[in-house]
Amino acid sequence: MTDTQLNFDVIVVGAGPAGLSAAIELKRLGTGSVLVVEREKQAGGIPRHCLHSPYGMREWNRLMFGPAYARRLTQDALDAGVDIRCETTVTALKPNGVIEVSSDTGLQTLTGRAVLLAMGARETSRSARLVGGTKPKGVMNTATLQNFAAFSDHMPFKRLVIVGTEIVSFSALMTCRSHGVKPVAMLEENTRITARFPFALAPKAMCVPLHLETQIAQIHGKREVEAVTVIGPSGSHTLQCDGVIFTGGFRPENALLRSSGFELDSGSLGPKIDQYGRLRELRYYCAGNILRGIETAGWCWNEGRKVAQCIAAGLQGDLPPRTSVDVSAQASASEHVIKFSLPQVISPSAPKAPVAFDKLQLRLSDAYTGNVVIGSSTHRISSKPERRILLPLPQTPAS
Ligand SMILES: Cc1cc2nc3c(=O)[nH]c(=O)nc-3n(C[C@H](O)[C@H](O)[C@H](O)COP(=O)(O)OP(=O)(O)OC[C@H]3O[C@@H](n4cnc5c(N)ncnc54)[C@H](O)[C@@H]3O)c2cc1C
Repeated sequence: MTDTQLNFDVIVVGAGPAGLSAAIELKRLGTGSVLVVEREKQAGGIPRHCLHSPYGMREWNRLMFGPAYARRLTQDALDAGVDIRCETTVTALKPNGVIEVSSDTGLQTLTGRAVLLAMGARETSRSARLVGGTKPKGVMNTATLQNFAAFSDHMPFKRLVIVGTEIVSFSALMTCRSHGVKPVAMLEENTRITARFPFALAPKAMCVPLHLETQIAQIHGKREVEAVTVIGPSGSHTLQCDGVIFTGGFRPENALLRSSGFELDSGSLGPKIDQYGRLRELRYYCAGNILRGIETAGWCWNEGRKVAQCIAAGLQGDLPPRTSVDVSAQASASEHVIKFSLPQVISPSAPKAPVAFDKLQLRLSDAYTGNVVIGSSTHRISSKPERRILLPLPQTPAS
């Protein structure tokens, strides 16, 4: 892109797997100008600092480490003719595809005939978890730990505590082990670990004590972390440690959406989309972890591609108008276990319109076996919390 170019066919916000795959697909479909805006120094998203597998199976049928995966995706986008502008942060989303960006060269206003939002998700911080105690150095999320490991090859801890047992928690565990650090403990507030088998075997295999039904109550230390107080089935006790990693509890990176006054879903905390990936705000689309925290890179990559096909159809005028029939509000179970379902809105179908979300993605906050009612259909499900459940999309009238 030239500095003077301010209007684009499509602007993509975020150069992670979802944003880059969408940009590549848009170019493959013959879209004229496609700009990707990324706030980091380099494109690639989270995989850039994940020094481990598995990445790349769905995309290229190859097992890759995160940095190699990010490099390949970025190179494919450049080869396809995508403009990528790094160290540029989108600061405001305005009506009709107008966005404001900030970079070293100052503020600029850009316009897209369509804008794809692919800003990913972030982990829940210590403050949002309301953990008491002092505020020493050495309390962070997995992403920050991996930044240290990937970009300065430096592990700032020798005896740390990992809070959480999602897949990302085991990513933190692997990062520690690859830097010769054995965590003092992994803590999980539920009765079982969140990630699927075989992750449950990992702490034992690495001789790291796993404390179930245990929460972190306080962090101690003046300048650096010295210990934590945890509360478990046998009461409260203290663990000596020099760092605390709060893992998981992903939520969409929605600050920009909030400050721009966009509509958010109270369950997923992401924007409400229809089956074409469209938002209520005209010209805006979404894909990847911004829709919910968190899926695999391959899943987000595929979502980016599919939404790109809808954007291309939209630019040709082949998408029907968006309705406001909110099916997520109609989803119910006999217990309050439905965390969210998406797409939240079902628009009419049209002969030339590709569908990006051809299944309803449902997620539960607790384990549940029973019926889920969505509109006029009833589905029998049995699932643990935070697992992806796919159900048929409610039928839509033709436009
Ligand atoms: C620690 C960790 C380990 C993981 N390990 C694996 C694994 O082994 N295998 C796997 O398949 N998945 C793994 N994942 C998940 C996978 O990396 C993500 O699902 C995937 O990266 C999501 O892609 P995305 O494009 O939606 O978002 P992201 O990769 O998060 O990309 C979003 C991009 O948007 C940019 N951005 C955000 N806001 C703005 C803004 N306002 N302006 C400009 N740019 C902005 C961000 O800088 C970022 O680069 C892991 C995730 C984490 C956190």
